[in-house]
Amino acid sequence: MSFVEKWLQIIRNCSFDNTYKASWAKAITELAVEFKDDGSTERVEISLKSIAEKVLRFYFEQTIFFNLQQSSNPNKPPVILSIVQNLIKYYQQKTGSQKPVKWYKSNIENICPLELKKAIRDTVRALKTDVSYRFIRIEGKDVEGIYEYEQKEDSLFMSKDNLIALKENSLIVFDAINYRWVQMLEQFNHSPRLSKKVRIIDDEQIRRKPLGKFSTYLDSENPDHLCFLCREKIEYETPAVDHVIPWSYLYADDIWNLVYAHQTCNSSKSNVIPSEELIAKLEARNVQLLEQLRSKSIRDKHYAELEMAIDNNLVRKFWISCQG
Ligand SMILES: [Zn+2]
Repeated sequence: MSFVEKWLQIIRNCSFDNTYKASWAKAITELAVEFKDDGSTERVEISLKSIAEKVLRFYFEQTIFFNLQQSSNPNKPPVILSIVQNLIKYYQQKTGSQKPVKWYKSNIENICPLELKKAIRDTVRALKTDVSYRFIRIEGKDVEGIYEYEQKEDSLFMSKDNLIALKENSLIVFDAINYRWVQMLEQFNHSPRLSKKVRIIDDEQIRRKPLGKFSTYLDSENPDHLCFLCREKIEYETPAVDHVIPWSYLYADDIWNLVYAHQTCNSSKSNVIPSEELIAKLEARNVQLLEQLRSKSIRDKHYAELEMAIDNNLVRKFWISCQG
């Protein structure tokens, strides 16, 4: 069996307790992609610190954007997730903003350097305890020829040829890892579009699409621009298009979840689960909106989505499931 086949076999056999092994495999594969062969060695040293930095980044983004659970027990998260949650808490206090941000844009190494260093150290320790030597074990037996590692050491060693094989096959390998990661998350999270949420790590940035195109629809039901949240008229400013069920949960822009709000009302409630009153109000709004569109003979994709959402009670279903 080739090295890559073995690597994929390990990924397919990752246990479902938590997502550590997926993050570990992804970090090492990224390091393989970054590896530059200067011809100096056949045996490449990979520090656990370099792995930990990547693992932290994966969990940081999945947590700050989507608050995904990484194991079955939400009250006792895996150690690394607790480390990340504390780091995020500290970072958000320092910046005074709850707004999700990609790792590379966070400037975290300058905003909380000491906390980051500590988080890396603690993550290395957790990787040593729980992942490094267990990763290559399938059903109690070590898969040979993956890497050399002595328990509790600070580095592992891989052959250059294997690293290059991993690099050359990285697209397939990343797909396999992401797929496995999503499978695991499905056990611990009710949240929709998990595969998209896992994949965001690989994109440079998260593009939140402009919502202006929805104005025509929202205007037809709400021509006076009343704020959905405080009910006052929105004047002297462009109405914000607000996701009633948080964007971080749905990770999509659907007409049945979008309303007008004051800029300030909108930003003060981000990521908060809406009240039942608000949900009932949205359901009523959707029925009104559908009638408006029907009366104007608008029968496009958004009309169809709105009708489908009403027929299938999507607002209420997603509202219930986003409460965990
Ligand atoms: Zn308002």
